[in-house]
Amino acid sequence: MMDHSKYLESLFSFVDQSPTSFHVASNAATRLEAAGFTRLYEADSWRHLNSGKFFVIRHDGGLIAFTLEGDRETPRPFRMAGSHTDSPSLRVRPQPMQLHQGCLQLGVEVYGGALLAPWFDRNLSLAGRVGWLDEQGELHSTLLDCKRALATLPSLAIHLDREANNGRALNKQTDLVPLLGLSAESSPPDFTQWLKEELKKQKTEISVAEVLDFDLFLYEPQPLTQIGLEGELITGSRLDNQLSCHALLQGLINAEVPGNAMIVLNDHEEVGSATPSGAQGPFLSTVLERLYPDPDVRQQVIARSFFISADNAHAVHPNFAGKHEPDHMPKLNQGPVLKTNANQRYATTGVTASLFRSLCKKAEVPCQQFVMRNDMACGSTIGPLTASQIGVATVDVGVPQLAMHSIRETVGHLDGWYLMRVMQTFFEAEDAAVCLPEL
Ligand SMILES: [Zn+2]
Repeated sequence: MMDHSKYLESLFSFVDQSPTSFHVASNAATRLEAAGFTRLYEADSWRHLNSGKFFVIRHDGGLIAFTLEGDRETPRPFRMAGSHTDSPSLRVRPQPMQLHQGCLQLGVEVYGGALLAPWFDRNLSLAGRVGWLDEQGELHSTLLDCKRALATLPSLAIHLDREANNGRALNKQTDLVPLLGLSAESSPPDFTQWLKEELKKQKTEISVAEVLDFDLFLYEPQPLTQIGLEGELITGSRLDNQLSCHALLQGLINAEVPGNAMIVLNDHEEVGSATPSGAQGPFLSTVLERLYPDPDVRQQVIARSFFISADNAHAVHPNFAGKHEPDHMPKLNQGPVLKTNANQRYATTGVTASLFRSLCKKAEVPCQQFVMRNDMACGSTIGPLTASQIGVATVDVGVPQLAMHSIRETVGHLDGWYLMRVMQTFFEAEDAAVCLPEL
C-alpha cells in the first residue's frame, strides 16, 4: 500500500495537472501506461484481446481501464468502481471577446451547478482542448493549459452596493463576465487568433495554420494546499471528483488483481451524464459487450460483479450543522461515507453497504454514513445511473468534503488515502469476496 506522504504527493500532482476533464483522462492514461496498461482504441477490433491490462478513452474526457483474466467465454466477475472527471466551471463562449469601457472581457457560460460567489476576485487561467488546421489542411485536436493567471472576475466595491453583504443576487449573464485586460482599440481582438499564438508558444513542435474551434474552461491555477494547525486539511479546486478519480486509479495501479477489475471515469456528471462519455450514455455497456460478446456469458459476468460509485459527500459544516440529519453527520478525516436514499437517488442497499463495510474492515479504514434530511432534497450521482443502465449491484460512497462545487473545496488529508486503500483491497479481493450473498 502507498504510504500517506506518497499518497499526498501523488494526489497533488494529479489534481494540479488536471484543470479539465480532458486533462484528467490524459493524466490517468500517462499513469496507466507507466504501470503497464495498453491503450485500446474503440475504432479497432477487440476480438483477439487476451488477458492483460488495458484502457480506452472516449471523446477525450471519459476513460475505462481494466484488467482481464482468462478466456472471454468463461464468466468472471468484475471488481468495478466509477467516478467522474468533470467539475463545475465557467466555460468560454464561442464568441467570447467583449470590449466595454476600455476593459477587455471574456464571455462565459456556467458549466454545471457551480457555487458562483467564490469565483470572484481570483486569479483565473484557461485550459481545455483546441481544434486546429496545420499547413497541409489536416485537422488536429490538442490539449491546452495556459497555467498562468490571465483573468479575474472583480467584485463590485461595497461602497457602490451597501447591500452586498446582505444576500445580493447574482445575475449570471451580466455579473459573470471576467476581465481579461485593457484595450485602447475600438473593437476587441479575435480570440481564435490569440489562441493560435498561445498554442504556438506552448507547443513549439506543432505548426498551427488556423484555430477553428475550442472547448475551454476557466480555472484557478493555485495548487492544492495542505492547511490546518497539524496539516490535517487540504484545500483545492476540483476535489469533487478528481480526489475519487485519483483514489480509483491508484487503487487499481497498485493492486495485484486476481481476476477482472475495472475503473470507469465518466465525463459530464455535473450536467446530467446523458452524453457518449457520461454515465447515462453507452460507454460502459459497449465496453462490456466487446469484452464478453456472448450475451448469456455477459449477463453472468454482470450478475456476479460489484460496482463502487465514488463521488464526494457532504461533511458536516460546523457553522451549518442544522443542514444535516442529526444522526448522520459525516466528519472530515473519519473515512469514506456510505450514501443511502430511500427514493434511490443513491444506489446503495443494505447488502451492497454490507459488502463495502466488509472491505473497509479488511483495509482497516473507518466508514461513515450519510442520509439527507427529510425536509431537504437529495442530490444524486453516477451510481444509480450505472446500476440502472447495466443492472450491476452498486454502492454509492464518497469522501467527506466541505464547500462542494466552490472554486476551492476543503477535504481532510486522510479520507482520500482511506478511499484508495479500500479500492486496492477491493481490487485484490478474491472472486467470492466481491459477489453479493443472496437470500
Ligand atoms: Zn461529484
